[in-house]
Amino acid sequence: MLTQLTAAETAAKLRSREVGAVEVAQAHLDRIARLDPEFKAFLTVHPERTLAEAEAAQKRIDAGEAGPLTGVPIAIKDNVSTEGVPTTCASNVLKGYVPPYDATVVSRLREAGLVSLGKTNLDEFAMGTSGENSAFQVTKNPWGRDLVPGGSSSGSAAAVAGELAPLSLGSDTGGSIRMPAALCGIVGYKPTYGRVSRYGLVAFGSSLDQIGPFGRTVEDAALLAEAVSGYDPLDSTSLDVPPVSTEALKDGNVRGLRIALPRQFMGEAIQSGVREALEAALDVLRREGAEVSEIDLPSVAVGVTTYYIIAPAEASSNLARFDGIRYGGQVEGDGHIGVVASTRGGLFGHEVKLRIMVGTYALSAGYYDAYYNRAQQVRAVMAAEFETAFQEFDLVVSPASPIVAFPVGGLSQDPLALKLLDLCTIPANMGGFPSLSIPCGYADDLPVGMLLNGPVGQDERLLQAAYAIERALPWGYRRPPMP
Ligand code: GLN
Repeated sequence: MLTQLTAAETAAKLRSREVGAVEVAQAHLDRIARLDPEFKAFLTVHPERTLAEAEAAQKRIDAGEAGPLTGVPIAIKDNVSTEGVPTTCASNVLKGYVPPYDATVVSRLREAGLVSLGKTNLDEFAMGTSGENSAFQVTKNPWGRDLVPGGSSSGSAAAVAGELAPLSLGSDTGGSIRMPAALCGIVGYKPTYGRVSRYGLVAFGSSLDQIGPFGRTVEDAALLAEAVSGYDPLDSTSLDVPPVSTEALKDGNVRGLRIALPRQFMGEAIQSGVREALEAALDVLRREGAEVSEIDLPSVAVGVTTYYIIAPAEASSNLARFDGIRYGGQVEGDGHIGVVASTRGGLFGHEVKLRIMVGTYALSAGYYDAYYNRAQQVRAVMAAEFETAFQEFDLVVSPASPIVAFPVGGLSQDPLALKLLDLCTIPANMGGFPSLSIPCGYADDLPVGMLLNGPVGQDERLLQAAYAIERALPWGYRRPPMP
């Protein structure tokens, strides 16, 4: 079945003319039509646009001008700006908003000849860990229709795991790519901060946000990163370095790989099945010649607390622009202030309002030093601790999520428990370093993700190590039980 192929396999079959780009696109559109009413991964699909892009890709293939992913379909998280296609952030505040411009990543996808299938569901403004904060629908995990796919990039992860798309883009502020990748049993990669342009990504926590790929293999995720990364003058935090290269991906194995396992990531917060799966995977890597050492990273204990000051603080400022006047929906009110108040009060969801209030509080005069500044100091300590670890080790590993996929509604009454699930993923955003989750085993027949963290700017080495680890753990990727 065409929808079961990896992106790399699809691209190879397209180049050898074994299949056509329109046929590949149609196979995915058919599967979306059949299964997405159940998965609810997409907020927008646009079959006509998809088929037109597929035809254009085919012309390039026929002309011998195909790149590594030309003609391969992709789904895009709905907080990434797409010209002429609604971009809602799964919020009533942006319902009906159609952007007049493409995000840089979207322009690059077009240049590379990928074929866009549509826009995927998320927690409203990417604030959440389960996908349940979407104002429109709850995406289901292909591993169990009563289970959450993880968040906030819920739709992008479910689309790839459910074979509705071979590739997708998500965004990661505190784990929103890696967490759902773990819960859905696929690969999710947050590049080094600045390697992928944020131009056109609706901002949540600008110093933490990063766009990144989902795929069913490390190679697929790396190929997509290669296509969308690289310097962008439109993003002032963009790094002036070449795109992520996949050239060295296949060299090397796990022999001699120096892996650090911080004790703070293997404590009580981690479900026993997850811990066991990770230990078993690390045992295999040891047998294959990797060195695994336990280390201490004490600052990790305050990571979640620190993140939940910095991220809401930045969000409260970023979301000030949604005032009912410039974008999307508007609720009537008394005068200018009245319109702004009733729009923001009426159209933002509960979690978003909570964060705006927490963030505004943390930034207000008198509290700024006690909360925001203090959090920034802790952030620097955390980044330094990891940097020190990377001087001695190639990778710092942990579970990506402390628990496997859980039932819809299971934790939504317990916002604190949900936030604590970000324990392992937050440091990479705080320190800006690259981090990736790959499937490493199963607990209760549900996927467990191994989180691999590498030093800032060393994305290629991280991907190379991940590729070798994926080879060493051949049971890692499994298809979910689905049609
Ligand atoms: N779960 C985290 C939060 O709710 C991370 C979200 C993200 O990475 N966008 O803030």
